[in-house]
Amino acid sequence: MKVKPVLLFICSLTLFVSSCRQPAEPQADSGRMSILVTVGMLTDIVRSLAGDTAEITGLIGEGVDPHLYAPSAADVRRIQAADGILFVGHHLEGRLQPVFERQAAQGKRVAALAQRIPDEKLLLDEDGNIDPHLWMDVSLWSDVAREAHAVLSEWMPEATEALDRNLEALLADLEALDREIESILADIPEARRVIITAHDAFGYLGRRYNLEVMGIQGMSTESEAGLRHINELVATIVDRQIPAVFTESTIADRNVKALIEGAASRGHAVRMGGELFSDAMGAPGTPEGTYAGMIRHNARTLANALGTSGP
Ligand SMILES: [Zn+2]
Repeated sequence: MKVKPVLLFICSLTLFVSSCRQPAEPQADSGRMSILVTVGMLTDIVRSLAGDTAEITGLIGEGVDPHLYAPSAADVRRIQAADGILFVGHHLEGRLQPVFERQAAQGKRVAALAQRIPDEKLLLDEDGNIDPHLWMDVSLWSDVAREAHAVLSEWMPEATEALDRNLEALLADLEALDREIESILADIPEARRVIITAHDAFGYLGRRYNLEVMGIQGMSTESEAGLRHINELVATIVDRQIPAVFTESTIADRNVKALIEGAASRGHAVRMGGELFSDAMGAPGTPEGTYAGMIRHNARTLANALGTSGP
């Protein structure tokens, strides 16, 4: 391999700036496409789809809020070095999207997968913006998996056979997961089927599995929650005797605590129901560090706190 000495030379040159890691080395020596994927939920299904046909790297790690995520200089170099970029879109990755669009204009392979789903399947907020949290509905995430498959098949026509096979296996897994989530959540009685969290990330979960959803902040975490809105939510919690509210792994819990204090001051003890994974998965190597594990954790947390068999 003639490229090796050259690569080593580049590595030693860049060692002072950043470590010469795999993500920055497209087509290093494998000849495979290097594809950079934004959030973990998407990286997970793209990795299952690609198998060993491409090198898949996640950009945004656990516990990190994609709405606010601003690319570092090292990220921009990784984005430039990748052969392809897959992201959710609909402004989930608000500050990365313009970077991706500039790359696309320069000829880079870039695809916003949620933006390929027909609008009529998606939810809107009160300002008419599309809700980007599609992974909360496992059946809708299967549609995104189909779109990822279509894009990868176009980028890597030589890998079609493996991609088709991997898609079939992935869709079977997601279908089983969808049924499992439905059965876990079925435990919650009708009057208690309400999710109150830090921001509006659970709309698709609510639509698919029949739960009412209220967020303190809107669909993006960029806007601050108004005091008035917190007071309105406190009134709803007290009026309907809602037993629990939930924090999110990517968002500070002070607003959720304000709800609990507000309800307590009006004589209703609402519990902290637990932490939900909204816009990022858990740590790698833990059950919540996968898409299925994260979704399962959320369903069990909700069922434990709101269900009749819960505490
Ligand atoms: Zn969000």
